[in-house]
Amino acid sequence: MTTRHAACSCGQLQLKVEGEPVRIAMCHCFECQRRTGAVISNQARFPREQVTVAGQATAWTRKAESGNALTFHFCPTCGSTVYWENAGFPGLVNVAIGNFADPNFPAPNIAVWEESRHPWISLPPETSPKRFAKQG
Ligand SMILES: [Zn+2]
Ligand SMILES: [Zn+2]
Repeated sequence: MTTRHAACSCGQLQLKVEGEPVRIAMCHCFECQRRTGAVISNQARFPREQVTVAGQATAWTRKAESGNALTFHFCPTCGSTVYWENAGFPGLVNVAIGNFADPNFPAPNIAVWEESRHPWISLPPETSPKRFAKQG
């Protein structure tokens, strides 16, 4: 089974992730843009039992457009958001792909919030935009 490690920028918040994600997505929404400082966010969704967290995280919750509560977990030292949960999908954890620091991580195959995509961002050929599949 594949084991991957994700970490925040300073390294104190660490995730060990076993197995493959059930979903790999990118999001163009303004909330993700503000959270990451990047124009796009990338995340892989794993069953919670595949994810082991070590280190300290601060939680922050906001309501998504869907009405679901999203709870983000970020490092209180460096501020990097490493993982989050969506109350609408219990038992699953989203991990920010960049925190794996692994260019061989599988590419996203779903893109959401296409309407706020920066026009210079193009999608990988296998990625299908889901214009109305908003996950927040
Ligand atoms: Zn950190
Ligand atoms: Zn988003």
